[in-house]
Order: sequence, then C-alpha cells, then structure tokens
Amino acid sequence: MKTIWLIWGMSWESSLEYYRIINEQIKRKLWWLHSAKILMYSVDFYEIEKLQHQWNWKKATELIIDVAKILEKWGADFILICTNTMHKVAKDVQDNIDIPLLHIADATAKKIKNKWLKKIGLLWTKFTMEEDFYKWILEKNYNLDIIIPNNIDREIIHDIIYNELCLGKINKSSKDKYIEIINKLVKEWAEWIILGCTEIPLLIKHEDVEILIFDTTKIHAESASELSLK
Ligand code: GLU
Repeated sequence: MKTIWLIWGMSWESSLEYYRIINEQIKRKLWWLHSAKILMYSVDFYEIEKLQHQWNWKKATELIIDVAKILEKWGADFILICTNTMHKVAKDVQDNIDIPLLHIADATAKKIKNKWLKKIGLLWTKFTMEEDFYKWILEKNYNLDIIIPNNIDREIIHDIIYNELCLGKINKSSKDKYIEIINKLVKEWAEWIILGCTEIPLLIKHEDVEILIFDTTKIHAESASELSLK
C-alpha cells in the first residue's frame, strides 16, 4: 500500500471526511483491521481564505507549492489538495514538483464518463464557478456540458460555504436554499449534479434531492485510496 499525502485543512470540516472515506475504502478493499497509510499537512484556512478573497492568488499559490515541496521531500508518491477551489493553483503546484497531483476535476470527470452523462449542473464556490480552471477540464478534456446557477444563486452558495459550512454550521434554511437552486438546474435539464465543494456534502445528502448527485469529496478520496493500492 502506498502512503497517501494530503494537503489538508481547507476546511478541516471536509478534511475529516477525506480521512473517514479513505479509511472506509481501504477497509472495504483489504478487510479487517486494515487502514490507510496517510500523511497530511494541514494549513491554517484563515490565511488561505483571506488570500482568496483579497484575490492574492500569487501568495496562495506560493503557500501551497511550499507545502507540496515539503511532502515531496518526505518521499510522497502522489499528493492531493483536499478542496475543489484551491485547484485553481493546481497547475502551478504540479509544475513545481516531480510527483503527480491527483486532480479533483479529473477524478470526478472520470466517474461521470463511466455513466455516459453529458449535461451536468455544478455547485461550486464563486471562485470556481466564475473562472475557467476547473470548468475547462470538464468541458475540454471530458466533453461535458456544464450548467452553473445564476448570479444571485452563486452568491447564496458561496456565502453559505464560507460563513456556515466551513465553520461546521449546518442549517435547515440553507439546505432548503441549496435544494431550490438544484431544482432550478434540473429545470435547465441538468442530468446530474456535481457537489463541487468539499463541504456541500455535509449539507446535501442523496435523499434530499430527486436528481442523482456526484460528491467530489467522496470521489476524490476514493480515487486516492484506489491509487494507493495500485
Ligand atoms: N472546500 C471548498 C471547496 O471544495 C471551499 C474552501 C476553499 O476555498 O478551499 O471548494
């Protein structure tokens, strides 16, 4: 079993899910008392969030590259950035290290492709919804059609992520808002919904909506455990 190297803490609420899912998957595959070999570097999300909202992506990129280099020096076979949004810096990180980075968009798109779906509704942070770094991979590399919520709904999604979910607050009223937004995407013919923020699965469960959902935390974490056993 290879050791899985995680860049953690964005936010720690969803990082815990990575830990649980990876271990559950290893236990399912290897049985009994087996658990994953994991090393993680957990950042201070306060610093990251400030840089994101100040649009200081240069500093945010440097910070994640520094962490990735530490992991590389320690002998990592591959690494994961445990969040969707910070994949905005993934290419720069990959260009600065010699080990592979298991990209969350690739892991997700491969799962979708297995199911022969095409039109996908996406809930992300505003950074991810309004920029191309992630959408581009899904559209150009995997030929998927992406539908994102309107401006007002994007604000609602973003606000709930940073002011509630990343702080561990799960509110029924926010769940209702998300369900309403998902239903609007279904009316625009979304065949499936990607929960493209690692905290959203803490709020929205499969049973809350009629459409099927892809949970990027689960997909990314399971892809890592599969890779660790290859
Ligand atoms: N974890 C979230 C995501 O998957 C948002 C937090 C962040 O900015 O990284 O996008």
